[in-house]
Amino acid sequence: MNIKQLETFLLEAKLSGDDRFYYSQGRFADRRSLLVKITTDEGLVGWGESGVSMPLEHVQTFIHDALAPRLLGKSALQTEPVWHDLYSFSRDFGRKATPIDAMSGIDIALWDIRGKEAGKPIHLLMGGAFRSTVRAYATGLYYHEKDLTDPVGAVSNVQEEACRHRDAGFSAIKGKIGLLAVQDDIRRMAAAREAVGDEFLLMTDANHGYNRHTARTVGRALHELGFYWFEEPLVPEDIEGLASLRQELEIAIAAGECEYTRYGMLDLLRSQAVDILQPDISACGGLSEGQKIVALASSHQTPVCLHVWGSGISVAAALQLTAAIPPMPHTANPRAPENEPLFEFDRTRNPLRDDLIAGGFNLEVDQLRIPQGHGLGVEIDEDALKHHCVTSRLSQ
Ligand code: CA
Repeated sequence: MNIKQLETFLLEAKLSGDDRFYYSQGRFADRRSLLVKITTDEGLVGWGESGVSMPLEHVQTFIHDALAPRLLGKSALQTEPVWHDLYSFSRDFGRKATPIDAMSGIDIALWDIRGKEAGKPIHLLMGGAFRSTVRAYATGLYYHEKDLTDPVGAVSNVQEEACRHRDAGFSAIKGKIGLLAVQDDIRRMAAAREAVGDEFLLMTDANHGYNRHTARTVGRALHELGFYWFEEPLVPEDIEGLASLRQELEIAIAAGECEYTRYGMLDLLRSQAVDILQPDISACGGLSEGQKIVALASSHQTPVCLHVWGSGISVAAALQLTAAIPPMPHTANPRAPENEPLFEFDRTRNPLRDDLIAGGFNLEVDQLRIPQGHGLGVEIDEDALKHHCVTSRLSQ
């Protein structure tokens, strides 16, 4: 079964009013995703997603102009040789960012085809599921325009939103920091703690908004507030800084969403820079590479909790791999987060996540169910796809 055609769809959903939000690195006024659709000569169709938000036109160009000519006519079922061919071809000018984003969506689409061809969900082809549901955490507590000039109001906004996630069934929330003054952000996180109580699982994410000194101050305050992990305190290049923070702070250090492939993740692991590794399947090289990263992490006794931020295709791909991540370590009574993965479930407004997949993803108590259908186990809503598509390209 060979690859007959490759299509990409650049999707966009504009956000308006209070749906717009800020994090430490800027403002989100829209949500964007690049979907990859591969069709075989036998008519099977697989879907993938390439890259994580931000500009995606360059990823689309790379897919069609650089990778598609090598891909057309290749076996659709042989994900390893295809991955190896694309990586080796792009090594001299690739290895990170755009070329690997591009490969990720192709690899996910081929796994979707493999699953559909076998009549099984992807996690069964990966060796089987350790779980049929996964404890999800709400990613939220972002900033809104008015928070920038009203840090007191920002505190009550955080309290209100934390209560909303708890009332929706979540037992864990990750909130954003790094945009306001340190004391204002600590007040926001203290307010979140006060709102949900001492037993509730809380994490926080600075999106690499601090230097080493500030990160130490913030990390100590977060530990006092009982936060579980401190995500991307430092820029991703500062692996040495992450490793020293990890020695200095009690709170767990999480990072990995800005790193690529087994080679990039190995740098983090070998340097003992993280307590929790967070690859993004739509960016790090796809499901093929995700499996290798999970194996590497296990050899360094480091749990993996995937970074998940895209459309419903990214969510489905991440759920499939999460099913196949072994407990870290084994116990007779597995519990998240001590030895089971947590699953990132972004709660900001994103029609590309909520409307694109027929049926969507629904929290059951505080868990998400691993899709059991063939391949990724989800169906694209073609009307939603057409509605949000701003540019499509076809290679055949
Ligand atoms: Ca993050």
